[in-house]
Amino acid sequence: MAGKRLVVTRGTDRLPPMTAHSDDPASRPAVHLLRGHSRRLRAGHPWAFSNEVDMTPEAKALPPGCLVNVVDAGGEVLGVGTFSPHSLIALRLLSRRAQDRIDAAFLRERLERAAALREALYRSPHYRLAHSEADRLPGLVIDRYGDVVACQVNSAGMEALLPHVLEALDAAIAPRVVVLRNDSPVRTLEGLDLYHRIAKGDLSEPVELEENGGRFLADLTEGQKTGWFYDQRDNRAFVAALSTGRRVADFYSYAGGFAIQAARAGAAEVVAVDRSEASLALAARSADLNGVSARCRFERADAFADMERRASAGERFGVVVADPPAFVKAKKQLAAGAKGYRKMTRLAAALVEPGGFLFVASCSHHMSPDLFAEEVRHGLSLAGRNGRILRAAGAAADHPVHPFLPESGYLKSLTLQLD
Ligand code: SAH
Repeated sequence: MAGKRLVVTRGTDRLPPMTAHSDDPASRPAVHLLRGHSRRLRAGHPWAFSNEVDMTPEAKALPPGCLVNVVDAGGEVLGVGTFSPHSLIALRLLSRRAQDRIDAAFLRERLERAAALREALYRSPHYRLAHSEADRLPGLVIDRYGDVVACQVNSAGMEALLPHVLEALDAAIAPRVVVLRNDSPVRTLEGLDLYHRIAKGDLSEPVELEENGGRFLADLTEGQKTGWFYDQRDNRAFVAALSTGRRVADFYSYAGGFAIQAARAGAAEVVAVDRSEASLALAARSADLNGVSARCRFERADAFADMERRASAGERFGVVVADPPAFVKAKKQLAAGAKGYRKMTRLAAALVEPGGFLFVASCSHHMSPDLFAEEVRHGLSLAGRNGRILRAAGAAADHPVHPFLPESGYLKSLTLQLD
C-alpha cells in the first residue's frame, strides 16, 4: 500500500468520472495474445496474464482499464475485455462476442441476471448482488441492503466503467443510496487509489438487513468492508441450530451475526468477543432488535488473550465460534498466517465442553481448504482434543465461484463436534 492514500470523502468532492468513454465495437484497439496462450481463455477462463500478452509499445501506451478486442496470435478475435497494461491480470474478458457494445445497457443486463439469481435464492433483498467474475462482472462486488447498496470496484477496467455501472444499477434496481467502498488494498495492484464515498443519496445511520429471519444493523459508512459478511449466512444458520440450550462463545464477532443468530435459536447465554468497540456497539443494538439482549454479552478483548484467560479460569462452552479476519493477507505471509489458524483452533478447542461444537473459518484467499484443514487438525492435536467433522462449507450461494477460478472460493469453514 506504499504511497497510496486512504481518502474518505462524502458528498460531491470526489465524484467518479461522470461520463464513461463511449464504446464502439468497430474501432476498439486490439490486444494480441502470444502464440500458444489462448487455450485457457478459449476453454472458459476469464483472464489473460501480462506474460501471455504481446506487450507492444502501442499496447503499453493504452490507458489502464480501457476496452479492447482480445485477439489470438492467429488473428482470431476471442472477445472484448478490459486491459490493464501494468497489472499481472492484464486482460479480463467481458464478453466472448466482440460485437457487444460495453455500456450501461450491457451492464444492466448482467446486473439483472445477478439479481434474478439472488431472488431465486432469498426472499428478502439483502444479499451479495454481484460477485465479480462469477457474475460476469469482473472486478465488481456489490452488497445489497434493500434500497442501499455498497459497491467495491477492484479492477482498473471496472473503475473506468463506473459511470455506466451507476447508471446500470439505477436501471436494474433503482437504489436510493450507493456507497463506494473502494478501499480494498487489492486496488493498489491495479494502480487505483483507495477511497470511500457516497455516490448517490445520503446515509447517516446504519442500515438494517434480514438474515435467516433475524434483523441486523450494518454500518456502511464506518464499518469494515461492505458492512455485513453475507458469506457466512448458511454457516450461521447451521451453527445457530446447534446452539439451542447451550452456552455460546463467538470470537471475532464483528456485528454479531453468529452470536445473535445463536441467541435467536435459543442459546442459554452468548458471549461475543471482538476488539472493535464500534462493532460490539452495533451488535448490541442488533441484539435489542431481536429481543435477545438479556442472553447476550458483548465484550471487548483480543481474541487469543481472551480465549487463554477463559480457558485457565475453567470456562467451557457448548458452542465456540471463531471466524477471524484473514490471517494471510499476502502469499508471502502464508507460513506465518497459517500458524494463526493452528493457534486459534488450539485455543478455541480448549473452551469446548465434551460433546460440544467448534466452528472455525478462514477467509484468507491464499489458504487452500487442505492447508486450512491441516492447521485445524494440528491445533486440535495440540489441544489434546479429537472428534468429528460435521460440515465443511464455503460461502453462501450469493457468492458463487467461477468454475475456472476455483481460488475465488476464498471462504473455508469446518464445524466439528469434540469429544
Ligand atoms: N465473524 C464475523 C466477521 C469477523 S470480521 C461475522 O460473522 O460477521 C473480523 C473481526 O475480527 C472484526 O470485527 C475485527 O474487529 C475483529 N478482530 C480483528 N482482530 C482481532 C483480535 N485480535 N481480537 C479480537 N477481535 C479481532
